[in-house]
Amino acid sequence: MTAGTPVRRAGSWIGGRPVTGAATLPVHEPWTGKLVAEVGLADAEQVEQAVQLAHHARGTLPAVPVHRRADALHRVAAGLLDRTVEVAAAITRESGKPISWSRTEVQRAASTFRWAAEEAVRWSGELQRLDSEPSGEERLALHRRFPRGPVLGITPFNFPVNLAAHKVAPALAVGAPIVLKPAPKTPLSALLLGEILAGSGLPEGAFSVLTVDDDTAAELVADPRMPVVSFTGSGPVGWAIRDAVPRKHVTLELGGNAGVLICPDWSSDTDLRRAARRIAIGANSQGGQSCISVQRVLVDQALHERFLPLLVDEIEHLVVGDPWSPTTTVGPLINRAAAERVKEWIDDAVAGGARVVTGGEVEGVLVSPTVLIDAPPQSRICRDEVFGPVVTVTPVDGVDEGLRALDDSRFGLQAGVFTHDIQTAFRAHRELEVGGVIVGDIPTFRAEQMPYGGVKESGIGREGVRAAMEDYTEPRLLVFSEV
Ligand code: NAD
Repeated sequence: MTAGTPVRRAGSWIGGRPVTGAATLPVHEPWTGKLVAEVGLADAEQVEQAVQLAHHARGTLPAVPVHRRADALHRVAAGLLDRTVEVAAAITRESGKPISWSRTEVQRAASTFRWAAEEAVRWSGELQRLDSEPSGEERLALHRRFPRGPVLGITPFNFPVNLAAHKVAPALAVGAPIVLKPAPKTPLSALLLGEILAGSGLPEGAFSVLTVDDDTAAELVADPRMPVVSFTGSGPVGWAIRDAVPRKHVTLELGGNAGVLICPDWSSDTDLRRAARRIAIGANSQGGQSCISVQRVLVDQALHERFLPLLVDEIEHLVVGDPWSPTTTVGPLINRAAAERVKEWIDDAVAGGARVVTGGEVEGVLVSPTVLIDAPPQSRICRDEVFGPVVTVTPVDGVDEGLRALDDSRFGLQAGVFTHDIQTAFRAHRELEVGGVIVGDIPTFRAEQMPYGGVKESGIGREGVRAAMEDYTEPRLLVFSEV
């Protein structure tokens, strides 16, 4: 498909087949603004069919031997790798993600499926002796985890394939059927994933990909046949889902305004250059549209004057613009409205006393990578999730004040701490209220196998293959009596 030739295409995969309703969803390419596809929305009957199939498969899928489920997951990983060019192009087309980052995303999604295949075969129970107490003599307990039931996976636009993989792969690994609802701005790459899944040999009903509007998504959330809801997206939508179904098992992977601290000991020229280089990438890659994008930089006041020009230098060398160019790091935002909102937040901060050291310009969907100093602590650019290529740099007085400032957020996904001091690392780990602390690097780091998620307004629960497998299952005990 080339830009400018919109294709009407099936918007869902149900029971291993592509299906489409009468209504369509337009998909625009952020970079050109062109309509690139008309995706058929699933109608009420098709949605019902997907739910019924998933409900039925809650009995049949766990009975598929684990070696067959693992083989299917390996086939999906291989399918993604074989079709990297095509899937990456779909990601860039629909989201504006720079093409080299889209390729990386597809490779990461393949790793997610491979990890799930490997974890599936290791996934057993635990045997526990009970005769360590007199009341337990002649008894033995087996702990096993069973799927909680079909999973409804809802994903955002910014990692349309790998975040889908993080819901689908662990669900299939534990034998839980899944209905995936991709973000309406970016359904094309998730539909390619649906096609690859359809060729994996999994039974009918093991998975569906459903392109629906948000009202239908809300009905799916409320459907009692979907007992597990795994949501990744914005806070307001996530918390409303949680409030709508308080008795369901809900995982929320939401936003943040991740911070990084440069401690007094991170002081050599090499140290500061590394911090600057990593922060430039972590704040700006994909136009800052990552939930763990660096937004707040706290730097020890003794290092501030040396660090700031290094950061500006690194940022000004980033390649901004055409996401199809292999050298681009900072592509467009998802649409003009998003770029205009970021500009408004920068202007508000400036009106409150902030100074723009570099960037601050918006042209269409492009926001130039921006560094602000003296940003008012109560401005939105400091307190909320900017989801754009903007960082604030603030001097702090030592580790105590630095850690306090790092933790001064209503969000808590990940934090970065540049230090060589093991005690500072332990202390950050103990004291910061976040899902993860990254030492010697930026918070913008995620590996597929690691538990990943946030606290406070950043969410509930953890993803990462193993963590999600636990999340989608319920422990159940079997006690044997030897008589
Ligand atoms: P969004 O909340 O607008 O949409 C997310 C998904 O929710 C979409 O599929 C959307 O169609 C669906 N949705 C909307 N209303 C719904 C409803 N009433 N019921 C059910 N589903 C509904 O988010 P977005 O703009 O696509 O993504 C950006 C957000 O995602 C940012 O806040 C970012 O930080 C967050 N995010 C978090 C993580 C994480 O792992 N913590 C990862 C990536 C993105």
